[in-house]
Amino acid sequence: MFMHNVSLKDHSSYRIGGLAKHFYEPKTENEFISALAEANEQKLPVFILGGGTNILFSDSGFDGLVLKPAISTIEIHGEIMRVGAGALMKDVVEASIHAGLSGLEWAGGLPGTVGGAIRGNAGAFGGEMKDSVVTVRSLDTKSLKIVERDATDCRFGYRTSVFKEEGVEAVLLVELQLKQGNRETIQSAVNEKINYRNERHPMEYPNVGSIFKNVDVRSMSEKDIQPFAHIIKQDPFPVIPTAYLLSEAGLKGVSFGGAMFSPKHPNFIVNVLDATEADVRALITLGKSAVKEKFGIVLEEEVMYV
Ligand SMILES: Cc1cc2nc3c(=O)[nH]c(=O)nc-3n(C[C@H](O)[C@H](O)[C@H](O)COP(=O)(O)OP(=O)(O)OC[C@H]3O[C@@H](n4cnc5c(N)ncnc54)[C@H](O)[C@@H]3O)c2cc1C
Repeated sequence: MFMHNVSLKDHSSYRIGGLAKHFYEPKTENEFISALAEANEQKLPVFILGGGTNILFSDSGFDGLVLKPAISTIEIHGEIMRVGAGALMKDVVEASIHAGLSGLEWAGGLPGTVGGAIRGNAGAFGGEMKDSVVTVRSLDTKSLKIVERDATDCRFGYRTSVFKEEGVEAVLLVELQLKQGNRETIQSAVNEKINYRNERHPMEYPNVGSIFKNVDVRSMSEKDIQPFAHIIKQDPFPVIPTAYLLSEAGLKGVSFGGAMFSPKHPNFIVNVLDATEADVRALITLGKSAVKEKFGIVLEEEVMYV
């Protein structure tokens, strides 16, 4: 049933990673359940992959089963959209524009799949996945039981959800509530977000978006916040943009091996020339120590390691 020794490079927006020992793309819920049953029987570690736009895969690969749901249906019933976890957010946003449905404009240019966006409650420009979710159908990867949750039950928070916190369920299907709107207005709002991203983000090189989280200032003292007062932004709570700290620490354009802090947006470490996981990790370590030394601030990764 499974494919073997599949390059994870080809499933990562970073174009970095070793081989997955086993790899499978279930197209139906039943295929998903059978694959998990087999993995559980063989005691294989399982990793659920979406678009691979938020992951730094190890150079030594994944010694288990990578399951990439290819359940990517997009159905529209009035103002309700039913989308499979494997659908690309790009296609979901496109479908909403065609149907004249408003609510996903914020996601213009957001890479990755619906499953990944639900797990991390992806958000941008003041919008978040949770704003439109009615229900999520998921699969408990241990018991192999189907779970139906309403939005409250998904326990969405800032870039998190029950799927991330507990790490047990794979998202299968999502029901979104949108609102009838004007197609041209929706299209132009989406274009605006895409253009903003293209201008600010170094899309000319493979990347996984922001490497570090912005710095939440809510637990900092007035005195410690003061030097950053001029650059604090809402995200959706007040933060110091990490790109500013990295830039002030002199890291713009600094490279190691094939990886580089983007001069355009230093919170993106880009893969300029066949970078390895080790190259990126070296720059992550450098970024953390330089910012700690200059500002006394400890950066946390947004990217996840697999
Ligand atoms: C250029 C660029 C810009 C970005 N901008 C933003 C932004 O503005 N806002 C934002 O929030 N993020 C942003 N990101 C990060 C990333 O795109 C999002 O986090 C995205 O939602 C990840 O989706 P994915 O399908 O690629 O998930 P992956 O990277 O494949 O996986 C991420 C996590 O989700 C889990 N996962 C994937 N599918 C499922 C599933 N079906 N069920 C359960 N778990 C699953 C994986 O196991 C993994 O833990 C950006 C990334 C890039 C490259």
